[in-house]
Formats: sequence, C-alpha cells, structure tokens
Amino acid sequence: MMQEFKEYTGCIHAHSFYSDGSCTFPVIIKAAQGAGLDYLLASDHMTIQGRDEGNTGWHDNLFLSVGYEINDKDDQHHYLAFGLDEMLPPDYSHEQYIQAVKANGALGVAAHPFEERDVNNSIVGFPPIPWGNLDYPEIEVIEIWNMMSHWLELTTGWNKYWNVVHPRSFSTFPSRRLLAWWDQANLDRKVVGIGSVDVHAIKIRILKIYTKAIFDYKIMFKSIHTHLLCDCELNKSAGNSVTESTIFDRIRSGRTFISNFRRGDARGFRFWAEDGDSELQMGESGLMKNPVLKAVIPERGHCRLIRNGKVIQKGKATKIEIAVSPGVYRLEVLKGKRGWIYSNHIKILEKK
Ligand SMILES: [Zn+2]
Ligand SMILES: [Zn+2]
Repeated sequence: MMQEFKEYTGCIHAHSFYSDGSCTFPVIIKAAQGAGLDYLLASDHMTIQGRDEGNTGWHDNLFLSVGYEINDKDDQHHYLAFGLDEMLPPDYSHEQYIQAVKANGALGVAAHPFEERDVNNSIVGFPPIPWGNLDYPEIEVIEIWNMMSHWLELTTGWNKYWNVVHPRSFSTFPSRRLLAWWDQANLDRKVVGIGSVDVHAIKIRILKIYTKAIFDYKIMFKSIHTHLLCDCELNKSAGNSVTESTIFDRIRSGRTFISNFRRGDARGFRFWAEDGDSELQMGESGLMKNPVLKAVIPERGHCRLIRNGKVIQKGKATKIEIAVSPGVYRLEVLKGKRGWIYSNHIKILEKK
C-alpha cells in the first residue's frame, strides 16, 4: 500500500538585494510564483531585513520564509538558519551558531559543505567556501546539491561564455564525494539532504558588451527543487509560525527528495519500504523481517539503488519492487547521464 501524502515543491537558499542578490523581495516572490513553487526559503548573508519587513508569509499560493545565511568571522562555515526572529551575535563561532540555531528551534542547513573548484582555472573572485568537517550532531540537514556552487565548480575559463548563456543545461549531478560522505554518515546517524539554488542573479559582463544576470531568479527556480511529502496540508489560516514549523519539521524528518526540474517534473516520485502492513518512508528507520523496497518514478529514468553507499541495482524503470536485506538505502534517478532525482535514506534494521 502506498501511503498518500500531500506533496509541496519548493526552492531553498535565495539571496535578495539586501545582501549580494540583485532583486527585491517582490520581484523574487513573483518569480517563485511564476515557477509554480509552493514554498521558498530565502537567506541573505548576515541580515534578516527581509523578515523584519514582513515578507515571511503567504503570497497567494506561495509560502515564503525569510531566514539568513550565517558565516563566521573568516567568512567560512556558511549555515542557513530559518525561523529566527532575531539574528544571533555576529561574532559567534560556527560551533556556537549551529548549537544556537538548534536550541532556538530554528532550521539549520549546512551550505555548500564540500565546495571545491580548480582555483587556477576558475572564474576569478569566487573562492570555494567548504565546511571541511561536518561531524557535529547539531548538523542535521545539509545541501546535497547547490546549483550555484555546482555551476562555479563546472565553469572554467574555457566554457564560461557557454555556461553563462545556458545556465541550467550544464548541470550534471551532485558531487560524488559529497554523496559518498552522506551515505557513510547515514550509517551512523541521520543526516537529511536537501537541494538548493543559492540564487543571486548577479550581473556579469561577457565579451565586454553584453550584461547578463547569471542565474536569473526565474530560471533558477526551475532548477533544483526540494519536495516535501506531508501528512497534513499547509493551512493558510494557521499563522506563519505554524506553517514555518510544519515546513521545517518535514525537512528535518527527511521525508523529502531533491530533483532537477531541468530534467523533468519529478512530482509524484515515491520511495518507501514495506513489510506486510508496516512501511518506512524516506528519513525513517525501523525493524523489518522481509523488507521490500518500492518506488514510483513519474517518467522513465535510469535508476540506481544504493545500499550502504554502494550501487546494488541499476536499470531503466518507472516502478521498482525489490526484496532487500537490512541496510541504509537511497535511490537516484538519472536522465541520460544527468542527475534528476535524489531520495533521502531509508534505514532498515533486522527484525529477528
Ligand atoms: Zn554561502
Ligand atoms: Zn548563499
């Protein structure tokens, strides 16, 4: 039996005019609505001005939550914090702010955790800002696929003109190193993966004559999505803090998956484990005697089932039903050789 959920699709990590983004909130909201998003989590660098001005809330059918992106005194350890009505002291170390975000019941997300790029062959002025060590129990959610840092990683002096003009078609898949770390981490503790856009729409000049906003909001909101599977509906009359905590809880629960809309509309994707009447959803762990993993894929794609960090099955499918042994599982779906859907993990423990 496939359990029914209400699915909400949104984008995480957008910068506005208040930090280094190029547009105001009304413009960003319009772009998000135009892309058909259900929710948007915005995060300027070290300011919650957009929140103070009352942008958090419903805008027709879009729910916007304004948080901010924290960095330490060396501009390292970028951490998204959503749901704080007041900023944390700006001199906090990363150990302090990851603890404080959790203690305040806000949602924390480690941003571009393993960002790397070839500095000698990259666009000058954008050094990587990786986390290095992520082994803190307070870090419960991380970005698995950050569109902006993905672009910067793949954009070199050779292809920058092409990549500026075709900002989504270059996209391949999340960093293999990061996925390997994520799989390994989930053997010990739950770490939820989300997708992010990290949109700025900064204007750069190419060929000295043509100014283009790279990664316009409209385009970016049609790239990396994070889909939430909810057992309740987001209720417009519930009040902003209730809606925010519903969204944050669903993200923390891990009953979510990431998709690249450029490769297709992934709404309707499902991945779960069954054993008789009991089910485990993404983000859950539990005991099972005869587990069967099932999946529904909205369009035919190349599926890769991963157990404890290793691909154990692959092939084209729109449906999966496979008896498995205990382990930590996730599913990837590719279109051609490019990443489309990334599930969160399901942990099946042996029931004796
Ligand atoms: Zn950042
Ligand atoms: Zn950012």
